[in-house]
Amino acid sequence: VPAGPAADVLRELALVDAHCHALLPRVAGPDEFERCLTEGNRAPAWDTPVGLAVRRWCAPALDLPPLTPAADYLARRAALGDDEVTVRLMGAARLSLLLVDTGIGRPDLTGLGRAAGATTAEVVRLERVAEELEVVGAARFASAYVDALAVAARDAVAVKSVVAYRYGLDLDPARPTAAEVREAAGEWRAGGRSRLDHPVLLRFVLWAGVDLGLPVQLHAGFGDRDLALGRADPALLQPLLSALEPAGVPVVLLHCYPYHRQAGWLAAVYPHVYLDVGLTVGQVGGRAGAVLGECLELAPFDKLQFSTDGYRLPELYLVGAAQFRHSLGGVLDGWVADGALSDEDAQRVARMIGGDNARRIYARSAAVNHS
Ligand SMILES: [Zn+2]
Repeated sequence: VPAGPAADVLRELALVDAHCHALLPRVAGPDEFERCLTEGNRAPAWDTPVGLAVRRWCAPALDLPPLTPAADYLARRAALGDDEVTVRLMGAARLSLLLVDTGIGRPDLTGLGRAAGATTAEVVRLERVAEELEVVGAARFASAYVDALAVAARDAVAVKSVVAYRYGLDLDPARPTAAEVREAAGEWRAGGRSRLDHPVLLRFVLWAGVDLGLPVQLHAGFGDRDLALGRADPALLQPLLSALEPAGVPVVLLHCYPYHRQAGWLAAVYPHVYLDVGLTVGQVGGRAGAVLGECLELAPFDKLQFSTDGYRLPELYLVGAAQFRHSLGGVLDGWVADGALSDEDAQRVARMIGGDNARRIYARSAAVNHS
């Protein structure tokens, strides 16, 4: 990271990672490694911005020079073994608190926290709680879900919805009636599907999450190819955001790319809307400065949160953190050089996005307050 007031702060700052997933305990080999790097999208893994970012930011933590060839990186990784690689890469990411989406698999939060040297806290995925419900009659679905969610979210700091994957962000914003939920539960069960994809039930679980009073994280923008990208544009959320505003819970838009500019405007005009700058930063690698700059065009600085979107590979947590430190420092210090903000402003904004905002958004949680 080049010198400058924001870069100086970001070099030392222990970051709050406000959205990440579980680590894979073992990486079976180069094929699995490369699949994990590209979200399973069958893209070539290494000749991509994220592939370059792994060689740039992770090689030094394994005692190799930056941009070491991929084959040498993988050989060194295999020689050190998964446990040593994980401790080195997670340690180098310097994260103080991880908010972990526990919606996939059975994440080992204790192991993740130990590897990172950080506190962990849980974000409960709303759709999963419905998918794991014991089969009950349609008439009892709603109350059974509310009870199960209360248990699942007992220690959670936020809830998360993947309605963008299951339906689209152009959903009807209204809270469904009891009769609508009963009918929909019967249809969903009769269809024999395990994935929650019924639009009425997706709305129901979202409103049940809002009723908990916890911040709501919403996936928007790009992901793996299960997603209908055109229906993941956060601008489609305007009716829902208006409907949720009186509830008083923060709504955090995750990922958002390539619609991060739309999301920045939403964060500017809706007091309860926030924008996460994760995923994009790691995936776009050397272009992260440009993308972060666009996030900062309209969104108020206290509406932005950092995350790594780390998932399975420890490399992705380190790439997210290191690329963020480097690129946000570059953007803010560029503004300082241009006379657009003071040294103190640049350092304050860097601390806000790197952790202060997330601590405020998720402040109800004891885990957040004590990290
Ligand atoms: Zn994610």
